[in-house]
Amino acid sequence: MNSSQGFDVVILGAGPAGSAAAVTARKAGLSVLVIDKAVFPRPKLCGAGITPRSQTALAEIFGAEMPEEITLQSTKMGFHWDGEVLSEFDQPFAFKYTYRTRFDHWLLGLARAAGAEVREGTRVEEILDAENTLVFAGGERVGYTVLIGADGVASPVAKHLFGKAFDTETIGFAYETEVPLPCADDTRMSIDFGVVKWGYGWNFPKNDSQTIGVVSIRGLDQDLRAVMHRYLEHEGVDPESVSIKGAHIPFGDYKEKPGRGNILLVGDAAGFVDAITGEGIALAMESGAHAATAAARVIGEARPHRADRAYFPLVADIQADLAKVRKLRVIAYGSKTRPMFKEKLATSVRLREALFEVVRGDASYADIEKRMAKHAMVKMALKLSSWPAALGRRAKG
Ligand SMILES: Cc1cc2nc3c(=O)[nH]c(=O)nc-3n(C[C@H](O)[C@H](O)[C@H](O)COP(=O)(O)OP(=O)(O)OC[C@H]3O[C@@H](n4cnc5c(N)ncnc54)[C@H](O)[C@@H]3O)c2cc1C
Repeated sequence: MNSSQGFDVVILGAGPAGSAAAVTARKAGLSVLVIDKAVFPRPKLCGAGITPRSQTALAEIFGAEMPEEITLQSTKMGFHWDGEVLSEFDQPFAFKYTYRTRFDHWLLGLARAAGAEVREGTRVEEILDAENTLVFAGGERVGYTVLIGADGVASPVAKHLFGKAFDTETIGFAYETEVPLPCADDTRMSIDFGVVKWGYGWNFPKNDSQTIGVVSIRGLDQDLRAVMHRYLEHEGVDPESVSIKGAHIPFGDYKEKPGRGNILLVGDAAGFVDAITGEGIALAMESGAHAATAAARVIGEARPHRADRAYFPLVADIQADLAKVRKLRVIAYGSKTRPMFKEKLATSVRLREALFEVVRGDASYADIEKRMAKHAMVKMALKLSSWPAALGRRAKG
């Protein structure tokens, strides 16, 4: 199947998912072509908060640490509620903050250095399944043995497979702006869960600016642009003085079967974004690497049409966690539990520690849910039985 104009793996999209797939496929000895409609460095609306889980994925997949010149580091965090400061604390690790323009360009350079061929400024017009061939805008054709769709939230590959990528009313939509106020290392980031329904606002420190944005579900009855203006005012910024841009984020929906036969979906194209934190970069890199591993396996067995069956089990943990977070976000965002959530953000060390574990990738949401249930049961048992306090403390431990 791999003709002279063909590649073992063709990857559509050169974001973190695409570059991770490319590097992993090259490590497995496959020939790789990465195609992107944009020319890099290209803009991409994103908070570009690089969590510890993302930092681990960078080390494991790319064998790399972020270059200092594109990075600001900080351990400091704060929770706000519609402008009110609820709590401020230090995380036991550093978040890294960057710009996607620089970050993605750097990653694509690593993919190129690993031997991937890269075609920028190239748009794919057609996917011909029966011939395992892509047709470019100018009519040129390229063959693939396995095709990886790393082409983002509006994924043309997902449209090709399922008729549409996502329902834009039920996934997330975000507004974001760069406020030209350069920050230093250890500047505090803040998250405001009270400024918007079913989402949050963020203010991330960057080397040359502050990145401020809000995210929520588009279909809700709220004027998200007006919310963005209010949030900017809370953060001391005149909304009329900055340029605000918007983008979709597959926040809360994902593909249960991210692919078909020898065509696989990764990252945003598969909807792999945490529905509470909005983190997608780690899952993009992890799923990109898993897709390339699956491709290498089935190509080695000369059974490329079983790529989906090799890939799905590798992302089953990611999907189980996304299913769980979709349920748990009702606690964070549902109107009945909001007062309790606000109080916990202000006071609960347990909640903070759970969040640390999630962004580090050390605990799944299922683990967190189990712990919450155990805690609630112990509390209820204590109330019902009026155990002596000392016994109760022992049960809690
Ligand atoms: C406002 C906002 C803030 C966010 N903040 C964070 C954050 O702080 N931390 C975090 O972890 N996540 C964040 N996310 C989520 C994160 O941006 C995504 O999850 C991540 O970019 C997914 O990477 P990807 O490689 O799958 O897709 P993308 O990064 O979107 O890359 C897709 C690539 O495909 C290319 N492409 C699209 N169509 C075609 C086509 N037809 N032909 C060729 N190429 C094509 C695009 O040009 C693009 O380069 C945020 C998202 C938004 C919208």
